[in-house]
Amino acid sequence: KLHNTILELKGNIRVFCRVRPSLTDDGLGTDGKILSYPNSLEALGRAIDLNQNGQKYSFSFDQVFAPEASQEDVFVEISQLVQSALDGYKVSIFAYGQTGSGKTYTMMGKPGQPEQKGLIPRTLEQIFQTRESLKLQGWKYEMQVSMLEIYNETIRDLLSTNRDSFREGTPNGKQYTIKHDLNGNTTVSDLTVVDVRSSREVSYLLDRASHSRSVGKTQMNEQSSRSHFVFTLRISGVNESTEQQVESVLNLIDLAGSERLSKSGSTGDRLKETQAINKSLSSLSDVIFALAKKEDFVPYRNSKLTYLLQPCLGGDSKTLMFVNISPEASSAGESLCSLRFASRVN
Ligand code: ADP
Ligand code: MG
Repeated sequence: KLHNTILELKGNIRVFCRVRPSLTDDGLGTDGKILSYPNSLEALGRAIDLNQNGQKYSFSFDQVFAPEASQEDVFVEISQLVQSALDGYKVSIFAYGQTGSGKTYTMMGKPGQPEQKGLIPRTLEQIFQTRESLKLQGWKYEMQVSMLEIYNETIRDLLSTNRDSFREGTPNGKQYTIKHDLNGNTTVSDLTVVDVRSSREVSYLLDRASHSRSVGKTQMNEQSSRSHFVFTLRISGVNESTEQQVESVLNLIDLAGSERLSKSGSTGDRLKETQAINKSLSSLSDVIFALAKKEDFVPYRNSKLTYLLQPCLGGDSKTLMFVNISPEASSAGESLCSLRFASRVN
């Protein structure tokens, strides 16, 4: 491990809360009323209050981004974390929140609007730029990308050229079995892994993956908000003059929408889907909570997502959870759930 980061001094799990701008604000500022941002010296940029039915609920996080925060403002706060992947740390960044709260905006940004690009493209640009400058110090890095989706506890390969794999979980006998070796390396059988040399190559792959996701979306009714998207960059570096080596993994994860579907309304496939999402989000929370509390037993095996990410959660790896919040009064109930979920993690 080459150099330390501020994050290291504060432990390995961070939670950032981000509130998106209102999409329905009627100009009277009604939406602004349910959320407020205490600005005392110690709370500034770290606290958020939610007011519902005359009750005030207060939360604090490692950072709170109010709606005005730009993609650049957010990236500034994570660039060091991302950088630590080149130093050999396993890094995972999650976006959690109800559908429509800004998870995909935070991770990917707005298509066709370069200044609004999200943290995945910014991260890749930074990593490839840093790789260039580290060449001067003798470092040579190899990078590999994979992208998958977990839907109903089933893995789909988003970079597969076989279209069928977006319709069926396991076409052509593909099992996508997760294996961890003793060195903490994870392989998923049959999953497409692509060597990449520039951030442009990765953007091309991201386009391909998002096309695959949208194909699935029309076929499987809004599936993309019901599935977890996992982007993985594997990095291995060797320093030719000092013979140092680093191996690391960067996972960027756009989680399924956390909203609770009304129990009475869900039957059949929808019910199964809801149960799968609840199971994996609560497993994720259980794992992160156990790690934060330094408990001896961490229940990684309770969901595909936590099992897949097991070697990247815990140990000296670094985890950042974004909790995305919709500011509208109509979302107050879900927002409260998200804030509570995250403060348990916190
Ligand atoms: P999710 O992925 O959680 O379902 P999205 O990222 O798709 O939510 O966001 C919902 C809508 O809000 C999109 O139209 C998106 O562009 C917009 N949006 C989300 N966050 C922001 C933000 N911080 N600034 C501007 N627009 C945003
Ligand atoms: Mg989304």
